[in-house]
Amino acid sequence: MPFTIAIDGPAAAGKGTISRALAQEFGFAHLDTGLLYRAVGMKGGDPVQAAQSLSPDDLARPDLRSLAAGVAASRVATIPQVRAALVAFQRDFAAREGGAVLDGRDIGTVICPEADVKIFVTASAEVRAARRFAETGEGTFAEVLEQVRARDARDMGRAYAPLRPAEDAMILDTTDLSIDAAVAKACALIAARLT
Ligand code: C5P
Repeated sequence: MPFTIAIDGPAAAGKGTISRALAQEFGFAHLDTGLLYRAVGMKGGDPVQAAQSLSPDDLARPDLRSLAAGVAASRVATIPQVRAALVAFQRDFAAREGGAVLDGRDIGTVICPEADVKIFVTASAEVRAARRFAETGEGTFAEVLEQVRARDARDMGRAYAPLRPAEDAMILDTTDLSIDAAVAKACALIAARLT
């Protein structure tokens, strides 16, 4: 039975960890949709062509988790034709038998408005920057905080598919939660829907 979980939220709020844990706990497939935009941003050349011709090799690049890839992703993600080129792949993934967890920015609002469960994971910019800084070890904390804020502004302010919670999304604020506590809360939400 297809069962779709949509996880959205800003950078480093904990979406990825929570999504992976949910997929593992309930036996669902997981798609980190940010990787698609990161791969388009790092491919170079015309971003629309890059999105239309994205290959498994592009998605296997070792540098997709870098801060530079995140910045490049949020730039190409403002282009409507780039987003349009990635819709079918994401929807096909969401419709697979056995259930799927997709995490990104517009899963509950644009890609899967009919998702069975929508969770908007958020946290303060300072806490998110501290997590990203600890994870990547790149630059200084002040630089990472500035990038987090710039990415938030770009993701929330873009005209097409901006980052915002779907009206029927549950908000999960992880500012004061450990990862284990955040994962436990998300698992409880899904378990309640599955019973
Ligand atoms: O989640 P992640 O940090 O990997 O995403 C990188 C960038 O890709 C985001 O800042 C956002 O601009 C873009 N993105 C998006 N829609 C998604 C996933 C990511 O616009 N569904």
